[in-house]
Amino acid sequence: MQFETTVVRAVEATGVGLHSGVPVSIRILPAPPSTGIVFVRTDLDNFQVPASWRYVAKVSYATSLMRQGVLISTTEHLLSVFYSMGIDNAYVEIDNLEVPILDGSGLPFVDLLRRAGRRTYRRRRRFMRIRRPVTVEAHGKRISILPADRFLLTCDIFFDHPLVGRQSLDLEVTPEHYATQIAPARTFGFNYELDQLRNMGLIRGASLENAVCFDRRDIMNPEGLRFRDECCRHKALDLIGDLALIGRPLLGHVIAERAGHAMHAALVARIMNDPSLYEIVSFDQLAMRVASALVS
Ligand SMILES: [Zn+2]
Repeated sequence: MQFETTVVRAVEATGVGLHSGVPVSIRILPAPPSTGIVFVRTDLDNFQVPASWRYVAKVSYATSLMRQGVLISTTEHLLSVFYSMGIDNAYVEIDNLEVPILDGSGLPFVDLLRRAGRRTYRRRRRFMRIRRPVTVEAHGKRISILPADRFLLTCDIFFDHPLVGRQSLDLEVTPEHYATQIAPARTFGFNYELDQLRNMGLIRGASLENAVCFDRRDIMNPEGLRFRDECCRHKALDLIGDLALIGRPLLGHVIAERAGHAMHAALVARIMNDPSLYEIVSFDQLAMRVASALVS
């Protein structure tokens, strides 16, 4: 896509927050070029919180944004869908502090954006192209980004469970790949963690309707898994949602090994704080560069 986009018409969804358990409605509306994705708390005098790495507040179990004390929780699934489906600009009106979890995947948001339609502006999209490799690692977990002229993802996970184990995924992130391969993958958890998470004030809205839950040996959801490697695909969904906080489309190859929200956020902060790591290019500049590389 060469030009900036927004939605054509307003669309709405209603649900509960995964962690807070509160009822919440969102409404997605068109926004002018170069707005980005901006949350609007309609319950707090339309206070705005842009979907930017600058406002990352909490990164344990979900990503939360905060501006001047106003919170938007669990932003990663909705932002993952905007980013992957190529919607650059939108207002997201929200009447509570947490984005609804819906069925735990990105699919309801993909359907919502398809209903909203895509409008293309005349303003050229500006991509962030990674120029030098960057790695963040800690405690056997690692995330890197390498230069590339497309948005590529490699994601590895390991959970010591007979239905999960070691899983790996390689993907070019395009709207088509995303909608079929990534968006349907649901949030997941393990039933022996549930008490601890509840004691931390988390997962108050969780159920088998909006999350995959594993017990020691099996899966508790009667419908089973949507993909054999649904967990790895969901990790990729979360990762894209955290990368979306860069605020412009990314050209690079992200390699995540057992990384979580905190490490995703650390990578984004590392990139954004060092302008020598990237350049901002238009589609035309990129096409010219690829063409000259081919003839030389
Ligand atoms: Zn998730």
